[in-house]
Amino acid sequence: MSTATITLKDQFPGLGGGWHYLDTAATAQKPQAVIDATVNALGRDYATVHRGVYARSAEMTLAFEAARRRTAAFICGSEEEVVFTRGATEAINLVAQTWGVQNLKAGDRILLSTLEHHANIVPWQLLRERTGVEIDVCPLTADGRIDLDAAESMLTPAHKLVSLAHVSNVLGSMLDVRRAADLAHGVGAKLLVDGCQAVPRLALDMAALDCDFYVFSAHKLYGPTGVGALWARAEILESMPPWHGGGAMIDRVTFEKTTYAPPPQRFEAGTPMIVEVIGMAAAIDWLAAIGLDRAEQHERELGAKLREALRMRNDVTLFGPEETAGIVSFALDGVHPHDLGTILDEEGVAIRAGHHCAQPLMDHLGVPATARASFGLYSDESDIEALLKGIERTRRIFGQ
Ligand code: PMP
Repeated sequence: MSTATITLKDQFPGLGGGWHYLDTAATAQKPQAVIDATVNALGRDYATVHRGVYARSAEMTLAFEAARRRTAAFICGSEEEVVFTRGATEAINLVAQTWGVQNLKAGDRILLSTLEHHANIVPWQLLRERTGVEIDVCPLTADGRIDLDAAESMLTPAHKLVSLAHVSNVLGSMLDVRRAADLAHGVGAKLLVDGCQAVPRLALDMAALDCDFYVFSAHKLYGPTGVGALWARAEILESMPPWHGGGAMIDRVTFEKTTYAPPPQRFEAGTPMIVEVIGMAAAIDWLAAIGLDRAEQHERELGAKLREALRMRNDVTLFGPEETAGIVSFALDGVHPHDLGTILDEEGVAIRAGHHCAQPLMDHLGVPATARASFGLYSDESDIEALLKGIERTRRIFGQ
């Protein structure tokens, strides 16, 4: 399928008017189908879930639990294994504060990598403060992929967890999750995969990946903010203690003793994000109808085109590997990324300039920030052209 045939911009009220949105890795624009589903859930169909005895609430409960099934099917997992969270950040904190506190003790080790988002660093540092667990950092290959050969030589039986990004939000590099799972399991460790940037771009199958935990946020996959999911193997979820206490996560409460609901409800205290979950399911339906193979090909092609065009210039440094999942980080010589971003904004081009919540990676690259262009299904070659034109104008303003 050629990229020209899948320009979907018209479905996105947040786009249009000559605006070139190249910040999808931060958050994706929403298709009308997701907006409609969200508005209906908040208006016409609104009611609480799991408690009401009246028909509207029963219907909303059905829709809410159907959303869980659709989320599970989307990643080829089963519905008891999908916990709704506020997003990937909360999902990682949940694992750290429940499974981590229960299973890790002083002297145990966690392996992260240089390219992790702060959301996959800080929760483990908080756990380190609580338990005395040690953190190791797997280096990157010269072209910016997590070096699994290095991971293989670093892993020891003291490692209880390996936690890595499936796709880097800065470099677009992709992890061989299956190999990472084999390496982790080889020393008896669990593998958590931060799937934030992979979920909108790659077809996923939890059994094939063989990881133990997988986390993502809906807003990166064309859904609403404030919702996401933790997928974990059923037997691991069953063994995990609750995190937040309150309504909906209990079996029976007395002042003497409370027993807890089975997963996933055990981890969903309080009235859930009903509207957001319905919106996430609509996004999943929308994306599934287009097809993840198409999304992957489209974004890889645009990523490759942009890299090729930037490589033609002798004043651009490109970061990351040749093959990316549609995320391209670069620097224009002698121009701070923020200045570039500001001039591009005047040209109607939105990129991200900054550390991308990956300060250790910036330290590794030896830069305070990068400029990042990231694509979505609605992106097309006109966005690349506008970006290149804006870079040329910036060059003229700043001189050689
Ligand atoms: N991990 C990665 C790779 C990300 O790109 C992001 C979002 N930038 C996160 C984690 C955190 O996601 P959220 O802020 O939606 O919880």
